[in-house]
Amino acid sequence: ARKRDGKNGAQLYDPAILDQTRERAEIESDIEVGIAASWFEAHFQPIVDIETGVASGFEALMRMRHPRKGLMAPGSIISVAEETGMIAQIGNLILEDAMANLARVSRLPGMDDTYVAVNFSPLQFEPGLPARLAGLLGHYGIQPQRLVVEITEAVLMHDNPEIRTILNEIHHFGCLIALDDFGTGYSSLSYMSRFPVDIVKIDQSFVRSLTDKAGDVGSKNKMLIEGISAISHKMNCKVVAEGVETEEQRMLLRQMGIDYAQGYLFSKPREISELLSALTARQAELRSMAS
Ligand code: C2E
Ligand code: MG
Ligand code: MG
Ligand code: MG
Repeated sequence: ARKRDGKNGAQLYDPAILDQTRERAEIESDIEVGIAASWFEAHFQPIVDIETGVASGFEALMRMRHPRKGLMAPGSIISVAEETGMIAQIGNLILEDAMANLARVSRLPGMDDTYVAVNFSPLQFEPGLPARLAGLLGHYGIQPQRLVVEITEAVLMHDNPEIRTILNEIHHFGCLIALDDFGTGYSSLSYMSRFPVDIVKIDQSFVRSLTDKAGDVGSKNKMLIEGISAISHKMNCKVVAEGVETEEQRMLLRQMGIDYAQGYLFSKPREISELLSALTARQAELRSMAS
């Protein structure tokens, strides 16, 4: 690291911290410009039936298409956007893009009951959210059960009655609620009884440890996944495993009763034009097989 001394020889700034501050400021200004200049777009990753590998729906994942830096994943963006509150605007842009593109995908033959799962930040849970969702669904003529609202523990943590009311309204309206990154937080299980949950998404760290960690840890995590799966089914929830990368993981998860899988084994997140051409090609293939 560069060494920078103060006037009287004392180290005033830690250059590493200075770099971090600069980088953060740059991300913040990129986000501001990006919102105004429409750099944000949703990419789509299939969520497949673990038995057949057929996509039942897609998760919308935020990307920022920076004209100079290229496509940026949410990693560095989300935390800055959360701190500044800009995540609410970004979230709404991604939601709108996801709905518009779900409408396009739905027009393909046989795709009229596919769904989109959208990630929501705690800051999006304001009282106007249910009406906004209803408005968008109405605009695109999409049935509410074809929108999955993905939330993490961060949304539920403070047991805020206002957030509970909003979630109940959304659920009552007919949208599905998915608990994302399940099992990594503090009280995942208790959220299942206190909030209206339809889908449990088992965090990719569990999936990875199935085949990465030999012996005790691997086999204990296997028991945890089996347990989560059994409890979820008892509570009438469907279970999705995240981050499935190998056929071996898929086979194990299938034996454990997992319903759906998402991961690079099936597909990376794709931009909408790629997704549409992949789906169209697949359908042509199916038609030629049938004839
Ligand atoms: P998430 O919702 O748990 O999304 C799954 C993440 O796992 C995605 O990362 C996806 O690209 C990645 N992934 C999928 N399959 C595999 C796999 O087989 N192996 C590995 N290693 N990774 C896989 P991504 O797109 O970078 O998103 C990261 C996180 O950022 C998301 O985690 C979500 O928490 C957040 N995020 C993404 N889009 C949005 C958004 O529109 N709004 C909000 N509030 N958060 C978002
Ligand atoms: Mg998610
Ligand atoms: Mg997740
Ligand atoms: Mg995650």
